[in-house]
Amino acid sequence: MHREAATISVMIHKYCRDKHSSTGELCTECQELVDYARKRLARCPFQENKTTCGKCPIHCYKPGMRSRIRDVMRYVGPRMILTNPILSLQHVLDGLREEPLGYRKHGKNDPS
Ligand SMILES: [Zn+2]
Repeated sequence: MHREAATISVMIHKYCRDKHSSTGELCTECQELVDYARKRLARCPFQENKTTCGKCPIHCYKPGMRSRIRDVMRYVGPRMILTNPILSLQHVLDGLREEPLGYRKHGKNDPS
């Protein structure tokens, strides 16, 4: 769980730097997002035993935060594959996926 939290934090930092031109510190919005994600992870009753958040019976991200996190994942995900442990990232990404099967794990072919 700790690694997952760290991964999210790193991703949001990168996203904020690239998208919001922040330097060093996160903008307010992104900071809020990190705090939120951490809190959700900390409170997840399944902790290490859960599969992924997507299969989790408790949908713990509220809709607004969920879509923001997903934007971050979409943007940063493909750019971090070489530099960060991808397992925890993939775990989170799978958990947030809402599209019915179709383009799974093509990575580079972002349909947007
Ligand atoms: Zn930002």
